[in-house]
Amino acid sequence: MSAKLIDGKKVEQITMDLLKKDVENWVESGNRRPFLKVVQVGTDPASSTYIGAKTKACNKVGIQTDTTHLPDTVSAKELKAAIRSFNEDDKIDGILVQLPLPSHLSSHDVIESIDHRKDVDGFHPMNVGRLTVDQPTFPSCTPAGIFELFRYYSIPVKSKHAVVVGASNIVGSPMAIMLSRENSSGKATTTICHKFTRDLTTHTISADILVVAAGQPNLIKPEMVKEGAVVIDVGINRIADETSEKGYKLVGDCDFEGIRKKASWITPVPGGVGPMTVAMLMKNTLLAAKKSIYFEN
Ligand code: NAD
Repeated sequence: MSAKLIDGKKVEQITMDLLKKDVENWVESGNRRPFLKVVQVGTDPASSTYIGAKTKACNKVGIQTDTTHLPDTVSAKELKAAIRSFNEDDKIDGILVQLPLPSHLSSHDVIESIDHRKDVDGFHPMNVGRLTVDQPTFPSCTPAGIFELFRYYSIPVKSKHAVVVGASNIVGSPMAIMLSRENSSGKATTTICHKFTRDLTTHTISADILVVAAGQPNLIKPEMVKEGAVVIDVGINRIADETSEKGYKLVGDCDFEGIRKKASWITPVPGGVGPMTVAMLMKNTLLAAKKSIYFEN
């Protein structure tokens, strides 16, 4: 068997084109253009790259955006005061604090200070909680993007055995919640694995759908995957590569070449899940502007 490729770049393009039309219709109907406020603490180059990609996506779909830069010495009090002013600003629809934060700041504390109605990353406990009880919410962008890929390629999820490797608040955990809910998106029987899981293969080998978000290159090898499985590789890892100009290349968490001979569908890295994450951020920002999740009383 040779797996069919899930082309995240193609689905991203289609999604972004639709979002652009949606934004234009919204503005043409007399509404204010949606606005995303980004907050960057410090000057971490990877964070700057991610923010650059988000800004570019905003420009593409017609969402206004700007980034407030704060020094990495900013206190929790100062950062939360800035967030409070953005919460109260009616011209701001979505607020995103780029993670990770310097170690003296608690990301939980900072995320909780964002008004949950503007939490377009979907990380606020209110939004995560609503996800677990099938209520309308801003879903975490990476799992939401994976569900868009399932929809686009008509990959059935209902009643399948889904195994998620990785249990972070950002990817693994919300992915497992979305897969497992019986009254909303997933309806799959779901197993969640993490670094304390004993004998990972026992679980992965029985997966009809295997989602891997561990940040460990080559963690999943062909012998750990069931024949015909759908394999979603979320991992983005830099590994040394002398043949590349940059001196490194990006790989996922799965042995792509080995697994593609066994799987029915597979996402490449790069070009699989990654492009969808930013598209879902645009979608959540438009939902926030339209007040589609939390209505005004
Ligand atoms: P994280 O470090 O917060 O969490 C990693 C999770 O993997 C933890 O739950 C940990 O217990 C588990 N894990 C680690 N080693 C394991 C092992 N050997 N066996 C089983 N479980 C193991 O990472 P994260 O933020 O969830 O990101 C995971 C990966 O996904 C990273 O490579 C990250 O760069 C990538 N990522 C990609 C996107 C995207 O848009 N494609 C978005 C977010 C994160």
